[in-house]
Amino acid sequence: MLAPMITNALTIDVEDYFQVSAFAPYIRRDEWHLRECRVEANVDRILALLGTNGTQATFFTLGWVAERYPQLVRRIVDGGHELASHGYGHHRASDLNAAELWQDVSRAKQLLEDLSGRAVHGYRAPSFSIGLRNLWAFDTLVRAGHRYSSSIYPIQHDHYGTPDAPRFAHRLTNGLLEVPVTTLRVMNRNLPSSGGGYFRLLPYPVSRWMIGRVNREDREAAVFYFHPWEIDAKQPRVAGIDAKTRFRHYLNIPRMEGRLQALLGDFRWGRMDDVFLHRAEVTAPPPIARGLSPSPAGGRGQG
Ligand SMILES: [Zn+2]
Repeated sequence: MLAPMITNALTIDVEDYFQVSAFAPYIRRDEWHLRECRVEANVDRILALLGTNGTQATFFTLGWVAERYPQLVRRIVDGGHELASHGYGHHRASDLNAAELWQDVSRAKQLLEDLSGRAVHGYRAPSFSIGLRNLWAFDTLVRAGHRYSSSIYPIQHDHYGTPDAPRFAHRLTNGLLEVPVTTLRVMNRNLPSSGGGYFRLLPYPVSRWMIGRVNREDREAAVFYFHPWEIDAKQPRVAGIDAKTRFRHYLNIPRMEGRLQALLGDFRWGRMDDVFLHRAEVTAPPPIARGLSPSPAGGRGQG
């Protein structure tokens, strides 16, 4: 294809099907341990897929999962992938106060570092739950020793999203690099172009076109994300959920692995730290104002 050979970032949010935020009203947190765990086998399938393609990725891993599957953490780093944090207990950052967030992120980081023997630099908030109302959370991440975050989704969505946030990587005044997941700017709106449920909803050629356009026209690396349960057609069905949640969670799961294979072939992929953190250190862009005001390099002013 004609896209320039930009290396995009491939990311996996390592959590199990019963931990997704949309199921929170139906599955009590203190019953998680009673559920059949599928995450280890699913991550192994992802590791095999990436290994076959010679692709490295970033695994934003939940502390809860790492604690139960320490060997899985070892296999992730042994495969040459970046281990990053998805927090400990999959609480939305926006549901926690500063002390609670500190406890969650510092516990997860310590655990992941102890298990892997590697420094953990990256953090992604569950459900992209950092936005205008809790910008203080970025200070908590820095205090816990994180160097980058991928916690903002610059779209309008009923569960998350900060539509006016900058679309691309930007350094905050506290030194943290925020790397939003990718959107496409069309008709003054940001369209989600970076995985999750939208990747299962849209025909694959549409997703491929969106990522290609970000590479070609924005000349930026895309950030794509998915979850281990999204390739698991045999996961236990959660009963009694509303129609919208059911549609979003189970849609096109049997097609997902084939689409991922196509995606790995159509673009070049790498780890978040290689694509963004190391590059940012070399070019050292000036920090932009704290907050989510658009920078000259991205956001509302563009397109
Ligand atoms: Zn999550």
